[in-house]
Amino acid sequence: THFGYKTIESEQKQAMVADVFHSVAAKYDIMNDVMSFGVHRLWKRFTLDASNVRPGNKVLDLAGGTGDLTRKFSEAVGPTGKVVLADINDSMIKVGREKLHNLGVVGNVEYIQANAQALPFAENTFDLVTIAFGLRNVTDKDEALRSIYRVLKPGGRLLVLEFSKPEQAWLNKAYDFYSFKILPEMGQLIAGDKESYQYLSESIRMHPDQETLKTMMETAGFDQVSYTNMTGGIVALHKGFKF
Ligand code: SAM
Repeated sequence: THFGYKTIESEQKQAMVADVFHSVAAKYDIMNDVMSFGVHRLWKRFTLDASNVRPGNKVLDLAGGTGDLTRKFSEAVGPTGKVVLADINDSMIKVGREKLHNLGVVGNVEYIQANAQALPFAENTFDLVTIAFGLRNVTDKDEALRSIYRVLKPGGRLLVLEFSKPEQAWLNKAYDFYSFKILPEMGQLIAGDKESYQYLSESIRMHPDQETLKTMMETAGFDQVSYTNMTGGIVALHKGFKF
C-alpha cells in the first residue's frame, strides 16, 4: 500500500497517524462535511440517541478530535455531569477546544491528551465511553478496548462508531471507487493534502468488519455486544456493557 501500512512497526504507525491528524486538524470539520456529504452528522446524532446518556453522567469522548460528540454530550449530561474529551493529538484538541469555547460549550467539559491504549483514569470512572472514527487509528485495538473496559463503571457502556463493511457487494465496489479514486483528490483540492486522505481510505479498508469487532469487544470483557449498521454498513455502531 501507499504507506506500506501492513509492514510498518507500531511506533511508526503511531507517528504516521500523528502526522496525518496534525496536518488535517485545521480543515478537519469542513472535510468531514464534504467527504460524507454531511451524513456524519446523522451518524453522530444516532450515536447520541443510542447512548442513553442522562443528566449527571460522566462521559469519556475518546479520540474526541474536534469535539462534535463532546458538544452533544455536554448538553445531555448538564451542569451536574461531566464530559472528558481525550485525544492523542494536541492539534486536534486545540481545534476542538477553540470551537467548543466559541460555541459556549464550557463548564462541564475537560480536555486531556491521552493514548487510548493507556487511559490515565481510575478504574470505574465513566458511565459511558464513546470512540467515534477513532478506533481504526489506534495501533493496538485490543489493548485500547481493555483500557476502556477498565475505566468504565460497572453498568457502564461503550459505543464504537466506526467505518465498517458495506453489506451489499455493489455498494462495496462503489465505495471502494469513491474512497480510492475520488476522496484523495478531494483531499488534495480542499486541504492540499492527498496523502493523508489516502491513508484514511486505507485505514478504513484495514479495519475489522462488524463481526470481528464484535468478537474483539467480547474478548476484552464486554457483555451484550451488539451493532447497528448505518448507510448500508458503511458505518456501524457497536455497543457493549461492563457488568
Ligand atoms: N471523534 C471525532 C469525530 O468523530 O469527528 C474525531 C475522529 S478523527 C477521524 C480520529 C481521532 O483519533 C484523531 O483526532 C486522532 O488524533 C485520534 N487518535 C488516533 N489514535 C489515537 C489514540 N491511540 N488514542 C487517542 N486518540 C487517538
